[in-house]
Amino acid sequence: MYTLSDLIAPLGLARWQQADCWPGAIIDGIAHYPSSPSQALHCPIDGASHGDLLPASAVEVKASVGCASVAFEAWRCVPAPRRGELVRHIGEAVRARKRVLAQLITLETGKIASEAEGEVQEWIDICDYALGLSRQLYGLTIASERPQHRLLEQWHPLGVVGVISAFNFPIAVWAWNAMLALVCGNAVVWKPSEKTPLTALAATALVLDTLRDFADAPAGLVQLVQGNASVGLHLARDPHVTLVSATGSVTMGRAVAQAVAARLGRSLLELGGNNAAIVTPNADLELAARAIVFAAAGTCGQRCTSLRRLLVHEEVADALQEKLVTAYQHLSVGDPRQPTTLIGPLIDAAALARMQAVLIQAHKEGGHLLCGGSPVRAGGHVPAGGHYVHPALLAMPEQTDVVHEETFAPILYLMRYERLDDAIALNNAVSQGLSSAIFTTDLREAGVFIGPAGSDCGLANVNVGTSGAEIGGAFGGEKNTGGGRESGSDAWKNYMRRATNTLNDGNALPLAQGIRFGPA
Ligand code: NAD
Repeated sequence: MYTLSDLIAPLGLARWQQADCWPGAIIDGIAHYPSSPSQALHCPIDGASHGDLLPASAVEVKASVGCASVAFEAWRCVPAPRRGELVRHIGEAVRARKRVLAQLITLETGKIASEAEGEVQEWIDICDYALGLSRQLYGLTIASERPQHRLLEQWHPLGVVGVISAFNFPIAVWAWNAMLALVCGNAVVWKPSEKTPLTALAATALVLDTLRDFADAPAGLVQLVQGNASVGLHLARDPHVTLVSATGSVTMGRAVAQAVAARLGRSLLELGGNNAAIVTPNADLELAARAIVFAAAGTCGQRCTSLRRLLVHEEVADALQEKLVTAYQHLSVGDPRQPTTLIGPLIDAAALARMQAVLIQAHKEGGHLLCGGSPVRAGGHVPAGGHYVHPALLAMPEQTDVVHEETFAPILYLMRYERLDDAIALNNAVSQGLSSAIFTTDLREAGVFIGPAGSDCGLANVNVGTSGAEIGGAFGGEKNTGGGRESGSDAWKNYMRRATNTLNDGNALPLAQGIRFGPA
């Protein structure tokens, strides 16, 4: 079984390890070891020590934004297809380190190997996507109302992009942002989760190694500042950070959005979800059950798109409930490094305590536990020192207060409905609006769900669970989820500024709207 020490050399991390300490900032490719109080790092699998992080202070954040600004000035003039070539090289380096990067993700988040590898694959996929995009950053030509005039829209590089990321996707969130930002001609300053700093160091090492062989890319293109919320706030407040792309809880989003708005900056918010699936009487129940179990229990319920609310038609509720209880009872919980494990640990003790408190609250609100919910004792494939739980399935009499909250743990609330309209209303009744799904073989039911009066979420799927999005579509959600869109489609426009140009090819100076100015 591998441990951190097996991964340090293959991931190029040895250069930065000083005794048992890790740097809180990589500025212009150079590691900084601030004298701030250190933060102890522990593996969620078994509590093993991963050393200490020396978090960045306001000084390092300012310095790194300053260096990124200088790098941006050079990079924005490099032709976009050449910028795409850099991202292609990064993608090739990621392919070569895929397995070890995934192993580090497993050690820092507790994800099972297949999901951790899937996360690294997202980085590879977004590199391929960004490479193609580098030849398609197109604007428009628009008909002018004036003779011999032309209107153009161009997209230009934006500036320094600050990325604040959550623990549960320690590489993919940054990669989605950074690879597009680089191709669009920007520099990036990354503030990863304080729970996953080593994955951030490994990703930064890989990019810096690639940059070294790429003559026209300055080392300052990719910067790293590590630490908790206060480091994120320093980044959000810095007036030289043109765009702050922040992924995490709604609470974090409120704080970051206000800090950025106070200086009239731009923010792109990817916040919490409280995702529902509707199962109609016309559903393929076998397929629905499989999709529901992965969406609700996979990643130990720690995805923004995890399924948390299940709205099942009365007619099929008993049959589906039986299938789910059986499937839940067969989920293997334990060490995510074991190939048979499907459910790894929660991220920390606080997550376990919160899950247990929420289950008590749900019981008070009329919930009835159908299976799971309890912590798993150490023994066999379950190491001591981690926080393991059986995913919980609860029957709720209605959508009570606790169901309106996003609890970042494997809890699935099952509720029954009679009319599809009511189920859609329940789907939309929460403050978050990230992901949703309907399971039906009826074309009309599916059409209503994905139509204008259907699901109000950024993602609305048919016969596909709420989690596991592909990179080709725009990803994000409405309402308290923040409204941002990342990854595919036209999300690249977030990382560029638009300039409208009016060109006069003639000798006359006609004014728009027929305005006359001058001697009559
Ligand atoms: P979190 O909000 O605790 O932390 C996320 C990041 O924000 C971390 O880097 C953290 O240090 C930073 N941060 C926290 N408070 C801050 C503040 N006041 N100012 C500046 N920075 C601050 O979230 P988490 O526990 O790491 O991740 C889980 C949450 O993230 C869930 O709510 C989940 O739904 C959400 N999430 C959303 C998406 C999405 O795409 N919508 C993706 C992944 C996770």
